[in-house]
Amino acid sequence: MIVVKVGGSAGIDYDAVCADLAARWNAGEKLILVHGGSGETNRVAEALGHPPRFVTSPSGYTSRFTDRQTLEIFEMVYCGKINKGIVERLQRLGVNAVGLSGLDGRIFEGRHKDSVRAVENGKTKVLRGDHTGTVERVNTGLIELLLGAGYLPVLTPPASSYEGVAINVDGDRAAAALAVALKAEALLLLSNVPGLLRAYPDEASLIRQIPADEVESYLEFAQDRMKKKVLGAAEAVAGGVKRVIFGDARAGQPITAALDGAGTVVS
Ligand code: ADP
Repeated sequence: MIVVKVGGSAGIDYDAVCADLAARWNAGEKLILVHGGSGETNRVAEALGHPPRFVTSPSGYTSRFTDRQTLEIFEMVYCGKINKGIVERLQRLGVNAVGLSGLDGRIFEGRHKDSVRAVENGKTKVLRGDHTGTVERVNTGLIELLLGAGYLPVLTPPASSYEGVAINVDGDRAAAALAVALKAEALLLLSNVPGLLRAYPDEASLIRQIPADEVESYLEFAQDRMKKKVLGAAEAVAGGVKRVIFGDARAGQPITAALDGAGTVVS
């Protein structure tokens, strides 16, 4: 089993990802796709007059502050436009894909964090009314049912809290938890960069190989949301996934290239 996570940043070629995925699936490989949608969510939120608000925690992690209205816009884009766009592409390529959020069948479950500590203008504040959390549990029953019946699951945040409330969770870390739960042989984190760059944005500074037990020490090279990918990779290898690859989803055959060793390989 290979878990492929494709991000939501500008420049990602969903046609290329889906064509590669379909070719491998139709050749008999078992794969699951997890996707993001942050770029499009930002555009739609602006258009709807509820622009995104990003907050930075005291430890330097950036996340989207998700009030109820933001959560609903998030769902429109992630579970609607992006998820159905991917399912449609796959269906056209002869793959019987099924798109689900983490709420459906409680595939992704975690604790609801209602407040977040944020640094704004040098001061730490507590913001309430947040609908976020982290995936702590993956319920694989529905996924196994689908895979066993020949369907390819296409998964997206949000997750479900233990109380059944929708929570915005990081897609990279959700994909990592899924890879661990399914005992996947590889986790691919595909985005709009060649991999983890030592000197972002210099693409010539690509880090080719990271020993599995040293992932966290590479956090220093990652800025902003890339940190979540490095963290996800660390969680996946700690959970027994043999290979995590940060790969490029902008063109070509993104999955095949990553599995052939392009990008940053954590193993
Ligand atoms: P996605 O939504 O596609 O998963 P994210 O925006 O969450 O992607 O994270 C990828 C982004 O992280 C890249 O587009 C890049 O701007 C940024 N980034 C920060 N530091 C690095 C780094 N050291 N190497 C590569 N990308 C980095």
